[in-house]
Amino acid sequence: MIRILFSALTFIFFSLNLYSEENKTFECSICACETTKNTTLQCKYGNHEFCTKCIYIWFLENDTCPTCRHTHRLQRIIVQLESPIHQIKINAYEKLREYIQKNPLHKNVLRKRNIFPILLNQLKKNNGDYYAVILIGDLASSNQANKNLIRQLDIIPYLIENLYGTSFDMKETSLLSLSEILNANDENIELFLQLDALHKVKKISNSKNTRLSYPSKKLLRIIDMYNKKLKQEKIKSERNKVQSKKTKEENHPNTSNPKVKKEKMRYRVKKFFLRKIFRRKS
Ligand SMILES: [Zn+2]
Ligand SMILES: [Zn+2]
Repeated sequence: MIRILFSALTFIFFSLNLYSEENKTFECSICACETTKNTTLQCKYGNHEFCTKCIYIWFLENDTCPTCRHTHRLQRIIVQLESPIHQIKINAYEKLREYIQKNPLHKNVLRKRNIFPILLNQLKKNNGDYYAVILIGDLASSNQANKNLIRQLDIIPYLIENLYGTSFDMKETSLLSLSEILNANDENIELFLQLDALHKVKKISNSKNTRLSYPSKKLLRIIDMYNKKLKQEKIKSERNKVQSKKTKEENHPNTSNPKVKKEKMRYRVKKFFLRKIFRRKS
């Protein structure tokens, strides 16, 4: 049993490449093996590296760096997000949600601790991880830097894919998280529209299931607001164009205007004759 568990752990750990720098091997100070799959702990007096497998097992029992004993409570929880033991994983997600609720600035702390690649890994690995989807939504809420990173890491297509699945829970959380990600971020909305997901959300919003129709309507409202904003901007820019054309004409009469042309011609002819008369007299 222990052996099976251990091999399962090993498999998961080796599929991680968190913080890893490719082609750079190092010796893990816990197991003394040469590896490239490493996790770096940022300790008080420098960084300490371990293989991802070892540090995970270490963090099951401890919350300090094995080398310098620097405390890493948060890092420990982040590492546990990838635990193959369901309860440890859920507890880690719950702790991080509480951590964010305590202080919105903690969303930035988690971003800097590279939490998004871990969450993306979970989305890929577990055919859409319910808890990862919730946490992504929490991290995106009212945080533009996180919203942008979510777009850059290509997390949005995974959330859209969940809308085509069969799980109500997954659809509901994906819709809610997408709402947070798209809200007040035009580039994310544009990507969402490019990915052709709007018709799917519209379809879901017509369903009789209130658990799904509520979050889908929320998402549609955000896109509606964006479209209204675009329309208003278009009207405004057209109005400005007309206005600037008008002032241009007032300052520099348009030569293509036939009336102006005629006037100019008349002026030239007048000048010509006046000059002739003047010359004759002199
Ligand atoms: Zn090791
Ligand atoms: Zn250390």
